Amino acid sequence: MENGAARTAQPVIVAIDGPSGTGKSSTSKAVAAQLGLSYLDTGAQYRAITWWMVTNGIDIDDPTAIAAVAGKADIVSGTDPAHPTITVDGVDVAGPIRTQEVTSKVSAVSAVPEVRARITELQRSLAASAETGIVVEGRDIGTTVLPDADLKIFLTASPEARAARRSGELKGADLHTTREALIKRDAADSSRKTSPLAKAGDAVEVDTTDLTLSQVIECVVTLVEEKRAAR
Ligand code: C5P
Repeated sequence: MENGAARTAQPVIVAIDGPSGTGKSSTSKAVAAQLGLSYLDTGAQYRAITWWMVTNGIDIDDPTAIAAVAGKADIVSGTDPAHPTITVDGVDVAGPIRTQEVTSKVSAVSAVPEVRARITELQRSLAASAETGIVVEGRDIGTTVLPDADLKIFLTASPEARAARRSGELKGADLHTTREALIKRDAADSSRKTSPLAKAGDAVEVDTTDLTLSQVIECVVTLVEEKRAAR
C-alpha cells in the first residue's frame, strides 16, 4: 500500500507534440485536469514573445534584431489546466497572442535559436517545479525540451481535419484559407534548423483524424496510467 502510494506520488512528465489543429491543447488540458497534473502550452510562450517583438517594433524579418532582444520579455505562464494564464511584463496577453498578426509571425520568431534557448529554459524550469507532474504540449518537447519525459505522444490528423477544427475554433473562418495557412506554418516549423517540429523516436503516434476529442483524451489518459503502473 505504502509502495503504491509512493509510486502514484512520483511526478509524471508527459510530452505532447504535433502540428496545429490536431487537438493538442484540448487534449493536454483535459488529460492534465483529469490526472491532477500541471499544464503548459508552449505555443502560447512563443506567441507571447512574438507579441512582445511586434509591440516593441522589432523587425520580424531580421533574425539578428530578434536575437539581440530575445531575453528582454518577462514571460510568465500559469500552469493550472482549469485556468491557464500567460503574461508578458505583467500584462495579460491571453487574447492578443491569438490574433492573425501574431499567428502569421510566430514561426519566424520561434525559428531564432536565441528565442528557443530562452523559452526552452523557462519550460524546463516549470517542468522541474511541477509537484505532481505536468503535461507539456508543443512541437519539440519530446525531442529537445524534455527528452527524458515519462511518456511522449505525437498527435497527427489529416490536413482537412486540422483545417476544419481550426476554422471551427476561429468561428467559421474560410476553410481553404485556414488550410493553406496551417500548411504554411507547419512547413516552416518542420523545416527550421533549431529543434523543428518532429516526432521523437520513442513517441507514441496517435492519428486523431477519425477520433472524437473524448476518445483521444481517453487514449492518452490510459497511456499515462499504464506508465505510472509500470514504475
Ligand atoms: O501551438 P501553437 O499553434 O499556438 O504554436 C504557435 C507557434 O509556436 C508554432 O507554429 C511554432 O512556430 C511555435 N512553437 C514552437 N515550439 C513549440 C511550440 C510552438 O516553435 N514547442
